[in-house]
Formats: sequence, structure tokens, C-alpha cells
Amino acid sequence: MSSKPNPFAIAQQQLDDAAAILGLSPAMHAFLRVPMREYHFSIPVQMDDGSYQVFQGFRVQYNDARGPAKGGIRFHPDETIDTVRALAAWMTWKTAVVDIPLGGGKGGVICSPKNMSREELERLSRGYMRRLAHLIGPEKDVPAPDVNTTPEIMAWMLDEYETITGRHLPGVITGKPVPLFGSLGRSDATARGGIYTVREAAKMLGIELEGAPVAIQGFGNVGGWAGILCHQMGMKVIAVSDETGGLYNPHGLNIPALAKHVQQHPKRWIEGYTEPGAERIPKEEGGKVLELPVTVLFPAALENVITQENADRIQAKIVAELANGPTTPEADRVLYEKGIYVIPDFLCNAGGVTVSYFEQVQNAYNFYWPAEEVVKRLDERMTTAFHAVHEMAQRRKVHNRLAAYLVAVQRVAEAVALRGWVK
Ligand code: GLU
Repeated sequence: MSSKPNPFAIAQQQLDDAAAILGLSPAMHAFLRVPMREYHFSIPVQMDDGSYQVFQGFRVQYNDARGPAKGGIRFHPDETIDTVRALAAWMTWKTAVVDIPLGGGKGGVICSPKNMSREELERLSRGYMRRLAHLIGPEKDVPAPDVNTTPEIMAWMLDEYETITGRHLPGVITGKPVPLFGSLGRSDATARGGIYTVREAAKMLGIELEGAPVAIQGFGNVGGWAGILCHQMGMKVIAVSDETGGLYNPHGLNIPALAKHVQQHPKRWIEGYTEPGAERIPKEEGGKVLELPVTVLFPAALENVITQENADRIQAKIVAELANGPTTPEADRVLYEKGIYVIPDFLCNAGGVTVSYFEQVQNAYNFYWPAEEVVKRLDERMTTAFHAVHEMAQRRKVHNRLAAYLVAVQRVAEAVALRGWVK
């Protein structure tokens, strides 16, 4: 096995391919290849036993030519600055592909949230915001939830920000709980947006989704909601996995029961769930969920899970990337050659940031929309973005990820050029 791919090197390589086709000037290409700004923090936190730990945190504002930087904050033991850079670059392309007036950013803290108490997490979240507060704002940079960060964490961060600045400014952070100025429809927005792109892809490919088998790798917030929405649409979720292993039931898992189990599990895991007809896939073989003969495969966890090593064994008709960066460039080529329809991450999972944008709009007006309005507007954005990418792929005869880059990079480069930063 080769060493773990560096996500930022991958993000740069993907941009390089798009830059060559678009004929970007060398200066524009060089500018879009790196973040505009990045911050490194040390965050001291008192732990429950009275000792102190110093955590390392980051915030990368990759590009704000099209609007304030926008993107989530991850709490993860394997976080690195290069992962945050890559994710911030992908946010830049994501906001551009759905054409919302925002740039791209990302934050991260190296920590093991599953081994921390709620109180320790609160102190860490507030400590991170103390470092960040003067660097962000609704007109500068707007964080949100991501891997292992929740609406509750957004509420603590909002409160810390407002305490520091002495005013109410809910648009500084999105993905907040609804009673604290969050938007209806934000919690399932990433999965819902992804499902809309799958619906459009199935139409283009002439595939019937009713009763179609589905596999979901990752069963956290995004994967869990994908399961529920697929189930509601009459699709058959035959396999799911998380870091504790997987579950397989060829007749379709009882998703409402599984979702309830996960919600009640102290670590939100599928471990310990049983149902008649379901087989347990051991932890070491969790990757098998990716290789089943399904209509739709949703990678919904972390980066680099579809690689050169397993791409050949993927049997799905559609790979809908709810995770950020799940497929390496080598694997992309294999999937394209096999005729698998990939809905690339920054298109497929753009529903979350789209509803974050709606949340900010509602915060700015201090006037809140009903859920139906959020869902309708989300559908419009996702459907339009899907077809822009699909048509680009057909016209340029390239795979969908490259097509998504062509659409997005062109928009960002145009804004950069119009500002006169680089020609
Ligand atoms: N973390 C999500 C993403 O990767 C949402 C970001 C946001 O809402 O700003 O798209």
C-alpha cells in the first residue's frame, strides 16, 4: 500500500487539469492554487480532571473573490493543515458551482471529540472562537458544522462570538439550532441536495430509482439522513457502514429502526444494532460496502476511500459523493472508463452550504422562511447546478468532476479578474 494521499496535492492536481483546459493565465492559475489566507492557533483547554491540554486549530480562507469565505469546522484526530487547505479549496469551487455569493474556507481542530466530555467540547469550541472571532464575520468569513461538529457546537461558538463583540450577529455562523436563528431544513440539507442530484442523474441515465439498491459508507449526520431520505423515496438501502463496521441486508435494512438506534447510541454508531436478515460486516472489512452491486453508492464519510486499489471493484451505476474528497484522481479515471456516473463531491454535497447561505439571508433580514420554501429553493439550485455540470461534461467529453471544475473555476477566475487582482 502506498502512503496516504495528501488531499491538498489532489485538490491542486484537479485544479491543474481544469486550468489547462480553460487556458487560465499562469498568474491566475498560480493564484487559485493556494489559499489567500490561513491561520494557525493554539487553544489551551482545561479538561474535566483539572489538567490542561493545548489543541492545535486552523482556519483557511482560500478565496473570497465571490463573497465572504464560507465553510465548516472539523474536529478530528487526523486533521492536518493540508486537509483543511484542500477542503477550503473545495468549498471555493462548491459555492461557485451552485452560484451562491460566497467564497471558500474551512477550519479544523486536531482533537478526538468522541473521547471528550460535552463540557470539554464546549470549552474547546469557545476557545477556538476566541482565537477566530476577530478574523471572521458575516461580511468576512462564515463557519458552519462539518465532521464531528454539531448545531450545539455552533450555538456555543455563536454565543462566544456575540459575547466578545457585544452584539447580536447570528449570520456569523450557520448550521445553528433552529431556536437560535438556524434555518429550517439545514440539518438534512446536504443529504437532500445530494438526493436531488441523484434524481436528475437517474433521469439522464434512464434509471429507475423506485426499489433500487443503495449502499451508504458513513452513517453520521449526512449518511444517516441520506438513508432516511432514500428510504422515504422507496429505494432499498442494502448496506451501511461506519467506523465500527457495516451492516448488510439484501432485502433492505430497516432504516427508521437503525436511525433510532444510532441516535440513542452514546457515540452515534451502528455498532450493536441487529435485525432479522441483516449480516454484520466486521470493522476490518467495512470497505466492502463500497463494492456491492448497487444502483447508487453514497460515500458519506471522509477523504480517499475510493482509490486505485479498489476503484476497479466498484460496481455502482451512480457514485454520489456526499463526503468531501472520497475519490482519488487515479480512481476517477478508472470509474470514468468503467462508465460509472460520478456526481462529484462539491456538486453532490453542496446542499449544506446552499441552505447555510439561505440561513444567512434569513439572519440578515431577521425574517424566517417556512421549510417548504427552503426545500423548494434548494431543489432549484441543485438542479440547475447539476445540469450545468452534466452539459459541460457532455460538451467537453470529460468526466463529471473535471466538468464541475470547469464550471466553478471559470466563475471564480472571472470574479478575480474583474476585481483586477490577476488577469
Ligand atoms: N461543511 C459543509 C460542507 O462541506 C457545509 C459548509 C457550510 O455550510 O458552510 O459543505
